[in-house]
Amino acid sequence: MSLHYTVSPARPDAHVFEVTLTIDGPVEDGERLRFARWIPGSYLIRDFARSVLRLDDAHGRPLVKTDSAGWHLPAAADGLTVHLQVHARDASVRAAWLDRERGFFNGTSLFPYLPARIDESVTLDILAPSHPDGERWSVATTLQAQDVDARGFGRYRAADFDELVDHPVEMGELQRVDFEACGVPHAMVISGGARFDHERLRDDLAMICTAHVRFFGEPAPMPRYLFQTALADSGHGGLEHRDATALMATREAMPMPAAAMGTAGTADGATSGADGIERSEEYLTFLGLCSHEYFHTWNVKRIKPARFIPYAFEREVPTRLLWFFEGITSYYDDLAMVRAGLIDREHYLGLLAKTITRVQRGAGHDVQSVTASSEDAWTKFYKQDENAPNAIVSYYAKGALLSLCMDAWIREASDGTRSLDDLMRDLWQRWQATGAGLAEDEPERRIAEFAGEAVAQRLATLLDATGDLPLQEALATLGVGLDWRARGGSDDAGTAAGAKRAGRPWFGATLAPDGGGARLVQVFNGSPAERAGLAPNDVVVAVGGYRVDRTTLDGWLARHADLDTVSVHAFQRGRLVERSLPVEASAPDTAVLGTLDEARLSVWLSPSVAGA
Ligand SMILES: [Zn+2]
Repeated sequence: MSLHYTVSPARPDAHVFEVTLTIDGPVEDGERLRFARWIPGSYLIRDFARSVLRLDDAHGRPLVKTDSAGWHLPAAADGLTVHLQVHARDASVRAAWLDRERGFFNGTSLFPYLPARIDESVTLDILAPSHPDGERWSVATTLQAQDVDARGFGRYRAADFDELVDHPVEMGELQRVDFEACGVPHAMVISGGARFDHERLRDDLAMICTAHVRFFGEPAPMPRYLFQTALADSGHGGLEHRDATALMATREAMPMPAAAMGTAGTADGATSGADGIERSEEYLTFLGLCSHEYFHTWNVKRIKPARFIPYAFEREVPTRLLWFFEGITSYYDDLAMVRAGLIDREHYLGLLAKTITRVQRGAGHDVQSVTASSEDAWTKFYKQDENAPNAIVSYYAKGALLSLCMDAWIREASDGTRSLDDLMRDLWQRWQATGAGLAEDEPERRIAEFAGEAVAQRLATLLDATGDLPLQEALATLGVGLDWRARGGSDDAGTAAGAKRAGRPWFGATLAPDGGGARLVQVFNGSPAERAGLAPNDVVVAVGGYRVDRTTLDGWLARHADLDTVSVHAFQRGRLVERSLPVEASAPDTAVLGTLDEARLSVWLSPSVAGA
């Protein structure tokens, strides 16, 4: 009895992988072959079967479908073989891609499974491409190699289907950076071509990985680790796996070659870390992403919701705990960077202020709790439309701020002898002992042990509540002062230009250029734009009778700051309307952070090591 897959990057110009599954042993009539409907870490029904072009038996006859994700297998006493063709041109990290330059896949996109045999071990042959460019291709994956050539093509094995699909495969002409963190071999492979400073990237990644391993305690839980980075001209994101992460980033996010930096002078927007080394904003954002996904190695890939054990690939699996897994991870991604000295204190407080501002400005935080946001991720957070800011609170952003509150409460309750770091290490020890998942109310129960029942009750209340968090108080415990100021203009999300406009009339919508006017993309609840009866897709063409576009609207609004209202002309579904827009400043919803207590701040931002 065995299950054996082969995958071939056979038709790069048509973006088609050819896949074969050989099922050993008897197959009973009516057994099903299924495709996963989602990929763990990305909480949306994606129905990967939609990319299957053909699924045939050994004689080239199509198998009969049973539903949108399943096929009927004919009875076969001695097993059978099926052939598939799968289209792969999804540039995200969640599916599969194939062209002349590279091939990438998550197993969920290419490999069907037998529900009754999902726990069986499997082998996988990865075949080399036959096109001429393919001669320079190699394979990079954390799948267990069984018999592979120098370029990585050949046979791999996995203990079960879950393992098979939790090690994405990257192939192509790859750049590679190798390093060790706490004795474990790590690497980043990069496709998409870019000139960058390999040593800088290697040293910075090693610092981040070492900090996370030491945070949870050595030894690291994985035998090796791989960052699989695809560079392009746009895009930013990552997906966590047990021993790897798939990332997408822009070429500008890579550290500039040291020699080029000397010629070009200081890079635009470069900031100095505590180590005095200059790093660009884009590069620091990329390192923050690496830090985030790497932290997931412990938090969500091992410690995880009990509801994810095992992953039910055939249906949505709602959990109220995404605020914990994504929020805690978002809290520690940047915190680890400042603790490791990659960013300085001022930079870190700036990032934190942006998160606070984002949550505060979204009317969604008065509509949805973080636990509701978690449970409804499948239909809301992952299916955001124009009204998202008014309807949804991010379980990442508000979850990170709740994590900060939890950290402050534990420090307060223990007179500074314990922190959230200790709670996370305790969870990690529990996982190592039992491998058990987290019950839906486990964060409340765990914090009761670290900060008492009253704090646990406070957390429980906030988890299911909408509205503001007690951030002023929590930040003060950590030595940070919080002030609020008004914003001005249309869309100044934390920018320097926005700071200049602060306190000037607020429009209350995000804008996009549209012919000679400004198209409203999102309109914020309670804003002047909404109260003027303007809606998404309206195109504003004049303010106060003067022609405006995306770049001049704020300026013309400011010229009417002394009035109570100003007339606005806009096209609504093609018809010109005139509306009266209230002229007023926004509520003070832009966070500004500063040092309140030097000693507390420096304790909070110091490296945190297990057993220290
Ligand atoms: Zn995450």
